[in-house]
Amino acid sequence: MLSWDAWLLENELSVRLFFFFGILCLMATWEGLKPCRELHYSRWYRWRNNLALVFVNSLILRLLFPVAAAGVALSMERQGYGLLNQFELPLVISVFVAVILLDFLIYAQHVLFHKVPILWALHKVHHADPDYDVTTGARFHPIEIILSMLIKMLAIVALGPSAVAVIVFEILLNGSAMFNHSNISLPTLVDKFVRILFVTPDMHRVHHSQKRYETDSNYGFSLSCWDRIFKTYRPYPEDGQLGMKIGLTELQAPESICSLRGMLILPFKRPSK
Ligand SMILES: [Zn+2]
Repeated sequence: MLSWDAWLLENELSVRLFFFFGILCLMATWEGLKPCRELHYSRWYRWRNNLALVFVNSLILRLLFPVAAAGVALSMERQGYGLLNQFELPLVISVFVAVILLDFLIYAQHVLFHKVPILWALHKVHHADPDYDVTTGARFHPIEIILSMLIKMLAIVALGPSAVAVIVFEILLNGSAMFNHSNISLPTLVDKFVRILFVTPDMHRVHHSQKRYETDSNYGFSLSCWDRIFKTYRPYPEDGQLGMKIGLTELQAPESICSLRGMLILPFKRPSK
């Protein structure tokens, strides 16, 4: 019988698709039944464009990086390179450590994409979404996706996580991004409890506020500790979850923030003032 890690490596694509569509459907249903905020645009209009961008990104990643991040990890593992490959850790422990280290990397990378103007121009595509729901979590410019993949591959070379750890991390990151961008609110007590460890939708929504000091907070995607440790944590939006304005003040024209073409050319447009 296959061990769980060997099984995961063999069934990687089906497991990824299962979690992607499973969490997408679950959160979409939850949003439909009990939305936190009223949406400004119809789901159909934003979703077909946001999901088209996800499709373009997946295609580009498959074409540019056929071995993907897990492939790089596998090769590092075989050659014994990278920090974690120097230790004989039990598999579960090494996966746990690698997932935490990679989650920190995503936090640091996210801060960088806010602080460096040329990177912010790309990351703006994610923030320009005028509504906040499960598809916002997957809406990134293809160049940001390519840069993220390159950064991740460099981190894998340095840290040496196992291929299984990389797959587990990518599935968790993808799932938590869809969960914490969804248009739902956990009951107050549950939210308080969950955000001790994990990022909740109410916590991450603050990051999508039109107020810049709120946008520059709550960078975490999965674990909530990084924002607390690095003092970028902001528990609630000043105007409340229902009163806060989502998106970017300077970008409001639906064609440039919602259409696929608009999103693709957004980073290259001069700011209109
Ligand atoms: Zn951001």
